[in-house]
Amino acid sequence: MAKVGGLADVVGALPKYQTNAGHQVRVIVPCYDTKFKKENDFECVHWGNVQLGNFNFPFKVLKETTNKLGYELYLIEIEELFGKPNVYGYEDDIERFLSFQIATLDWITVRGEAPTIINCHDHHTGLIPFMIKYGYKYESLRNIRTVITIHNGLYQGCIGFDKLHYLPEFDLIHVGFLEWNHSLNSLAVGVKCAHAATTVSPGYLNEINISANGLEDLFKSVRSKSKGILNGIDFEVWDSHNDPMIDKKYSDKTFKAGKQKNKERLCEQFQLDPAKPLFSFIGRLFEEKGGDLLPQASALALSENFENINILILGSGNTEIEKQLIQLRNEHKGNYNVFIGYNEELAHLIYAGSDFILMPSRVEPCGLNQMYALRYGTVPIVRRTGGLRDTVIDFGDNGNGICHDQASVEDMCYSINRAVKLYDDKINFSKIIKKGMATDHSWERVCQEYIEIYNLIIEKNEI
Ligand code: ADP
Repeated sequence: MAKVGGLADVVGALPKYQTNAGHQVRVIVPCYDTKFKKENDFECVHWGNVQLGNFNFPFKVLKETTNKLGYELYLIEIEELFGKPNVYGYEDDIERFLSFQIATLDWITVRGEAPTIINCHDHHTGLIPFMIKYGYKYESLRNIRTVITIHNGLYQGCIGFDKLHYLPEFDLIHVGFLEWNHSLNSLAVGVKCAHAATTVSPGYLNEINISANGLEDLFKSVRSKSKGILNGIDFEVWDSHNDPMIDKKYSDKTFKAGKQKNKERLCEQFQLDPAKPLFSFIGRLFEEKGGDLLPQASALALSENFENINILILGSGNTEIEKQLIQLRNEHKGNYNVFIGYNEELAHLIYAGSDFILMPSRVEPCGLNQMYALRYGTVPIVRRTGGLRDTVIDFGDNGNGICHDQASVEDMCYSINRAVKLYDDKINFSKIIKKGMATDHSWERVCQEYIEIYNLIIEKNEI
């Protein structure tokens, strides 16, 4: 329906596997103006009005009619706020996500059948646990258990207290739950009020106690109700053996020929040389992803290796980084290229056709790219942080990838140089690829960990 990054992969896949495990799962998302919305059929199951202070927004709840995603999908359509193509980045984001949360609860209140658990994802849904606990009009929902899953603790959805009156009425004695560092911090509220909090990797849970954009003490204080659960990957979508988006399909037995064919296609499209190792990056071009390191590290790695490597970048984000990456194209024609934008199909082809994936992240709560890369026989080169530390072990320690410690141009280049040597050592290279392809990050296993948390908070029965 909509995707910016890893949260969409998780919310798209986890419910499917929870449904397969015998649970009744429904996904509720805002109705963005996306291709999926235009190309699929929906029936209207409810309509109402969201009151935001003096503003009133009519909304509809649309149900996808076929359940083809493997679970029931509901869209909250608030035309005036969400009838835009992007997920976020608008001036009225506060009004948008607040209305989404209120409309969702308003609908659930009249729906007749309340869920046992609501699993909220990131700050955009962080006020739901508070409203359920303390909102006067949500009294009938008080028994619902809530979990907040933190995909990225850097973004917290801060709202000025001048907008406090947007919230449905509640007993002001509880106003303290809303405050963190003098603002109404949606993520902090979610973490305080939910019955459990999860992060998308165990490594990230440890890290946010030390660095979390001002929420460190809060995360420390809720440690006993928190758990780090490493994301899974959806093998039905990410399967080199069966991927309609790649040129040549392959398994762990046929990866050499298969990957080479995909690499040739990729190299032809981007005027690169398929005889040289191909290093790729896919992701949001921001500092947290190490995007700012890419221009300089690419230039240095290309010159240190006498242009005997290829580098390909797919992403968008910071315009200064984008500009520098485009500029580099002129200086390293035939060895370097960049595609600025979001392109799902190209991402699949890059995982399949590259030899190495670069992930120089400063912050990586879980990271899915390295898991897709491993699955597609592409060796990840990562900075040891968050979920990357949990999933990639250096081949020097008998592992499945290449790791360095600093988010720096020097460390990145050092790893690229090690990768070039590994690429030439064909026997070892194949061994590491096979090891990566055999790694099991299936959702079947991971989804049980979520279910354990749900059971735990149901058993505890604390309001
Ligand atoms: P984050 O959620 O922080 O962006 P993750 O590694 O968890 O990072 O998830 C990124 C997801 O988004 C992956 O599925 C990746 O393939 C995809 N992705 C990121 N940028 C692009 C892009 N420009 N084009 C296509 N897919 C992208």
